[in-house]
Amino acid sequence: MDASAANPSVSLKVTCCVVGGGPAGMMLGYLLGRAGVSTVVLEKHADFFRDFRGDTVHPSTMKVMQELGLLEDFLKVPHQRISKLEGLFGATAVRIADLSRLDTPCPFIAFMPQWDFLNFLDEKGWRFPSLSVRKSTEAVELIRDGDSVTGLIANGPKGRVRIAADLTIACDGRHSILRTQAGLQIEDIGAPIDVLWFRVGKAQGTSDGVFARLSTGQMMVTLDRDQYWQCAYVIAKNGIDQVKARGLDHFRANVAEMAPILREHIGDVRSWDDVKLLSVKIDRLRRWALPGLLCIGDAAHAMSPVGGVGVNLAVQDAVAAANLLADQLAAGERLTLADLDRVQQRRMFPTRVIQAIQVQVQNRVINRALSGADLTPPLLIRLISRCPVLQGMTARLLAIGPRPEHVHSRSAA
Ligand SMILES: Cc1cc2nc3c(=O)[nH]c(=O)nc-3n(C[C@H](O)[C@H](O)[C@H](O)COP(=O)(O)OP(=O)(O)OC[C@H]3O[C@@H](n4cnc5c(N)ncnc54)[C@H](O)[C@@H]3O)c2cc1C
Repeated sequence: MDASAANPSVSLKVTCCVVGGGPAGMMLGYLLGRAGVSTVVLEKHADFFRDFRGDTVHPSTMKVMQELGLLEDFLKVPHQRISKLEGLFGATAVRIADLSRLDTPCPFIAFMPQWDFLNFLDEKGWRFPSLSVRKSTEAVELIRDGDSVTGLIANGPKGRVRIAADLTIACDGRHSILRTQAGLQIEDIGAPIDVLWFRVGKAQGTSDGVFARLSTGQMMVTLDRDQYWQCAYVIAKNGIDQVKARGLDHFRANVAEMAPILREHIGDVRSWDDVKLLSVKIDRLRRWALPGLLCIGDAAHAMSPVGGVGVNLAVQDAVAAANLLADQLAAGERLTLADLDRVQQRRMFPTRVIQAIQVQVQNRVINRALSGADLTPPLLIRLISRCPVLQGMTARLLAIGPRPEHVHSRSAA
């Protein structure tokens, strides 16, 4: 929009406006605050407490926490740990990865409700005077001056706010409105699946090591959240009407048959209102930046839930962006488009690799199971399951990922 057209009630001037308080935005806000860059993070919701948030914190993120001196406190936040990833193809058990073979401070995946993870980063950021996190504040419109983005208009609890920023960073997730308004081109990679998300009560102390289950025509993932099971039931894209047409009793019976550990409390799914549809996307921007605007995390590359890597990729993007830009931002230098492009140059490789793997798993494993084909595990998975060395390699790919980032950005504290 034209800068003169907006006449909001309050104005704010910052060096950096981060839009979105998800993993990418909260980590980036923390790193920029730590570097002494005047930063505001906008989150449209009043808190982080939403039912759906990816729950996995990988060793690469915990290594970043260690580098920031936060790991000890982070591990005090309640979580469950898993180091061996196991799945069931019908009745055949396979081990897909063994993280205990990794040489890293936390050789396990921590299952932690994402609102706890985000609250942790929020609270740790309070000590930085240059950082403010504004909740209930939704970015609605970019402000431009010629070809450059110079800030945005947001709706906050007290009305409209006009925020002038040297750099706006879109961390507003896979439905990013900023990337749409900026007219950045999206390459749609496609995801043939959606996910039904629901919870089932859990008797204290019960657990099982199985993470993913495939049976003819069905797939399900169960996440142990201590008090309850968070369940992800995978369906074919747009297949929700067919699932509902078969009825809730049929759905509950299928779930209990696939995962007997859920049978006792499956009645917790009382109606379809207890089952949320999450649409899955895989895409990426061809270009992540315009003058004055950078996209990272799912706003730059929407990730499928396969492998539970999206949160960690978003965190890695934030670390890379801070490493590459924080010094200049703190020094008050104006960033060029070439400066912003360096973030994409650094992060495009891991994004492509991980998305390519997600597509292969979707097509060769999940789609095959959903279409009712033979449930024999693919040859590669059988080989991995038999060979501990290969389980260490898959663990590295999943848990650390290609081109891991380490914190090099300055600390002004
Ligand atoms: C079904 C499903 C399950 C998944 N499970 C996992 C998992 O277990 N582990 C994993 O690692 N990944 C998982 N993923 C992927 C993961 O959710 C994402 O990759 C990750 O959350 C991306 O982080 P982000 O910070 O870029 O975006 P998001 O987490 O989407 O955060 C974006 C934030 O921006 C806010 N926002 C949006 N628009 C605005 C606006 N205009 N103004 C202000 N705020 C705004 C949103 O409220 C949100 O808080 C899953 C994905 C799907 C679809």
